[in-house]
Amino acid sequence: PISSAPSDQPTPLDVLGQVFGYSDFRGPQQAIVEHVIAGGDALVLMPTGGGKSLCYQIPAIARQNAGHGVTIVISPLIALMHDQVGALTEAGVSAAFLNSTQTFEESSALEKQLLRNELTLLYAAPERINTPRMRSLLASLHERGLLSLFAIDEAHCVSQWGHDFRPEYRSLSLLHETFPDVPRMALTATADALTRQDMIERLKLEDARLFLSSFDRPNIRYTIVEKTDATRQLLRFIQTEHHGEAGIVYCQSRKRVEEIAGMLDDAGIKAMAYHAGLDAKLRQQRQDRFLREDGCVMVATIAFGMGIDKPDVRFVAHLDMPKNIEGYYQETGRAGRDGLPADAWMVYGLQDVVNQRRMIDTSEVASEEFKQVMRGKLDALLTLAEGTRCRRVSLLGYFGEASEPCGNCDNCLTPPAVWDATEAARKMLSCIYRVQQASGISFGAGHIMDILRGKPTEKVVQYGHDQLSTFGIGADLAEPQWRGVLRQLIASNLVRVNAEAFNTLQLMPDARQVLKGEVSVLLRQQAASSKAERTRRGS
Ligand code: ADP
Ligand code: ZN
Repeated sequence: PISSAPSDQPTPLDVLGQVFGYSDFRGPQQAIVEHVIAGGDALVLMPTGGGKSLCYQIPAIARQNAGHGVTIVISPLIALMHDQVGALTEAGVSAAFLNSTQTFEESSALEKQLLRNELTLLYAAPERINTPRMRSLLASLHERGLLSLFAIDEAHCVSQWGHDFRPEYRSLSLLHETFPDVPRMALTATADALTRQDMIERLKLEDARLFLSSFDRPNIRYTIVEKTDATRQLLRFIQTEHHGEAGIVYCQSRKRVEEIAGMLDDAGIKAMAYHAGLDAKLRQQRQDRFLREDGCVMVATIAFGMGIDKPDVRFVAHLDMPKNIEGYYQETGRAGRDGLPADAWMVYGLQDVVNQRRMIDTSEVASEEFKQVMRGKLDALLTLAEGTRCRRVSLLGYFGEASEPCGNCDNCLTPPAVWDATEAARKMLSCIYRVQQASGISFGAGHIMDILRGKPTEKVVQYGHDQLSTFGIGADLAEPQWRGVLRQLIASNLVRVNAEAFNTLQLMPDARQVLKGEVSVLLRQQAASSKAERTRRGS
């Protein structure tokens, strides 16, 4: 049912020009805007910087003009809501922001304004929606025909499979349950197939039209290198490629964030630490400085970044591996919003794989089903990291998008050498098997590598493992190579690190085929990553 606006109403394109000062819609914006103005539900997947805000702001204006009342925008990002309300007000659009710091009087004034139909957009955090006061306000507006549209931003937060689950998003089911006739749109910049499906169910968007933009960020160059000495690698990366430029460095722990910030600072790089353990005022100060001052490097946990709209972030570095591809994509997406060349650079190693697996396996709150899904998501990231094909092809493929090799990632620029590791893989797998068989218990990576390399350590001798047929069969490879083999065996799900049993190594069912010589194993040449780095530095 297209409820066409009276002909004296401005068209969406007029609104785009008059209110926002832009001459053309970008990508799918126009189709989205028209669909939503006409009262359709929509699910919008668009990469960061793609222009999601206009997709609900323009329908809000058009529908208000057509007499439908106010659009409610739900977002978890207080700062972003604040900025948008400011910008809209400046552009002459009546917008307001409901927040917990307002006094009773302020909220009452806002409510009166709403009931008089004087607002076009109302921004609110998800936890506000389910309060009795808000529910009755929404009901009153609805009765008067003044509820025009619900726009749910960062909609992946509703899914526990997403990378940023927020329980308060669950209460948004109230919207479709109580007001099924009010159009809804959900927007996000990261959702894989599973998260997408969950969003559709939770927000009841089965009949919504899906607007799927390309997730490609062509100006971002992806590089994933083996972690040898993370600190030194990072310093070299910044000094040789991004000296004096703004960037974000992600680390897993607060302690590490502090260490790395200190190290960069000592090296004369303007670096600041940011994590949830710092007090709110200090965090705000540092964030402001990062946004305002040129060339600052923010060293942070994932607590930093959501809603940060800084166009000239020239690099995002990961010193520790994220949990999954959605997180990696979201975090790297903060680089190069201005469209100019930017780097997404990550170092990762065996320890990252072990740590991430352990966090999943030892979680006491997660169900077995949940853990299984998380392991699958982690595996997909490992496959990306270990892979030899174009990073962009792998990344986009994960989000269901087909593409051609990009020419702008490490694997395209310096194709990694592969070596036939079938024999090495068999040696390692059979060593794990023999040890387990001989002793009745499993052992960790260090011990297995000692046996392979023929090192008669105290522990090796104590267990009689120097008597095994596999003792010393891998003396031809050095320890870093064995680590590479092991990491890739873990990434390919042939070996599992059992976090519940002292990180011991266990064979997975598929290992049989490799042991029997039925499949061959091609691995990334370890030296290739550091060589690629040297080439890139142009030495
Ligand atoms: P997202 O929320 O998808 O990350 P935003 O809505 O913040 O993206 O938009 C990113 C930037 O692009 C903003 O500065 C916005 O003003 C600009 N933008 C959006 N749409 C257009 C357009 N049609 N023409 C020009 N600039 C646009
Ligand atoms: Zn590529």
